[in-house]
Amino acid sequence: MSDGELASSLSYAHPDHASGAAELAGSTGAPVAVHERDAPYAEEGNAPPQDTSTLGGRLMSRMPGNTFPPVPVGERLVDGQVLDVAGGLRVVATPGHSPGHISLLHEPTRTLITGDAIFNVLGLRYSPRMLCTDFRLSRRTAHVLGELEYDRAGFTHGPEIMDGARQAVRGFLAKAVTRRTPE
Ligand SMILES: [Zn+2]
Repeated sequence: MSDGELASSLSYAHPDHASGAAELAGSTGAPVAVHERDAPYAEEGNAPPQDTSTLGGRLMSRMPGNTFPPVPVGERLVDGQVLDVAGGLRVVATPGHSPGHISLLHEPTRTLITGDAIFNVLGLRYSPRMLCTDFRLSRRTAHVLGELEYDRAGFTHGPEIMDGARQAVRGFLAKAVTRRTPE
């Protein structure tokens, strides 16, 4: 894969992120890259299961609308892989929201794309429990993002942080582990 060939790198196979991928791939002829653990869901057009250890997850799993147009997956991504996009885009596996959820780190510009590993909606927060396949795993893997080097962060939900993003994320993570949240 080289610059310009990547149609879309799905952060994971959920309808709110994957619904336009088939159309984009069709109109550009470019492959769609998805983590190998979400690729089967993307190809089937079915979202991964919800975490049924929570009431919200059980309710969500009964809701219709967990499907989207099947996505032709051109590349299966793995953790640590550096995509030849814009000078190098590192795949950071942050499973939990979905089995193959990824974040992306653009090292040349010190920019992190969290995906849904961390939301920035009314402040930084973990991925909502009822939207995860395994919310406990999602919370654990969010801490991977505190160990990376970056200045800016973009979120799939919420406004970006243009300066001091790593410090903000680390501050959130440090507080989150000491705060007891009901499960
Ligand atoms: Zn989302």
